[in-house]
Amino acid sequence: MPDKIFEQPSSISCVVPCLNEAANLGVLIPGLVAALSPLTQAFEIIVVDDGSTDATPDVLEALGRQHPQVVYVQLSRNFGKEAALSAGLEAARGQVVVTLDADLQHPPALIAPMLQRWQQGVDMVYAVRATREDESFFKRLGTKFFYRLMRTSGGLTVPENASDFRLMDRKVVDALLLLPERNRFMKGLFAWVGFKTEPYAYAPPQRLYGTTSFKPFKLFHFALDGLTSFTTWPLRLLSMSGICLSLLSFAYGLFIIVKYFLYGDPVQGWASLITVVLFFAGINLISIGVLGEYIARIFGEVKNRPLYLVRNQKGQGLGQRMSLT
Ligand code: UDP
Ligand code: MG
Repeated sequence: MPDKIFEQPSSISCVVPCLNEAANLGVLIPGLVAALSPLTQAFEIIVVDDGSTDATPDVLEALGRQHPQVVYVQLSRNFGKEAALSAGLEAARGQVVVTLDADLQHPPALIAPMLQRWQQGVDMVYAVRATREDESFFKRLGTKFFYRLMRTSGGLTVPENASDFRLMDRKVVDALLLLPERNRFMKGLFAWVGFKTEPYAYAPPQRLYGTTSFKPFKLFHFALDGLTSFTTWPLRLLSMSGICLSLLSFAYGLFIIVKYFLYGDPVQGWASLITVVLFFAGINLISIGVLGEYIARIFGEVKNRPLYLVRNQKGQGLGQRMSLT
């Protein structure tokens, strides 16, 4: 490890997924150039345009002319942040790769202290929200619940409150690119690859311009993706509750039969009967739904479609690239 101390990385790639971030990019790119210049001799900023419908392509065109380090990768439509991140990681050529959001919630000034940890031998440094005070009570509650559910995934721990602001060594990026799955829940994949990983606490500032594209419904879907890609306990829970309920109903059946022979009670209780029938119908539907969630993911995987398609790519960055225009 000591051989790495104070060693400057030969090159750094920054990967920025963005969806309709025209206003923020004008501030972010010069900020990144200023933050990266003192850290290395060579760097590139890979901006993955995830199907923006605002002025993002024009803004990037102009910024690319000003800063030759900018590589613009335009996807053919909106594939989602996880796919955009994968596209950026695949395009990155640097010895060290940093992923960060375009909305300045991940301050470029933190790259220097994060890089210091890499220089001391850490393979991946991820920024962790020191607080969630800025978020609504329900979002905090939902997040807490989500991480609680993820924790039971047997062996693999997805760190709580970790952001997608990460600095990683080339070997971590290569490992991530080896993972073949289509459903890319990045926070889980980062945890799965392992390596020497360290949190870096920070207080996220507010989004500079615009609003978040992760509305509650999208977050719910995102959480389901995470749970179904990294845990199988919901399936086991279903079998366990099936066994428990069968045992209970067997016992209850015995009780009714014994009662009938002892007291000769006529069969009664339409209300309780319908309640039980409806209850079990509900349990059945929930079980089919949970199975369906897993099957839908299997369906997504077996189709084996590419994660994303590139429409346009400009700028050379650190390596020779094929220009698509
Ligand atoms: N983003 C993206 N594709 C999407 C949604 C978001 O590339 O489909 C980008 C977005 O432009 C931003 C980052 O992902 O750079 C984080 O998004 P956002 O700020 O909306 O999420 P939050 O900070 O609320 O988690
Ligand atoms: Mg944001």
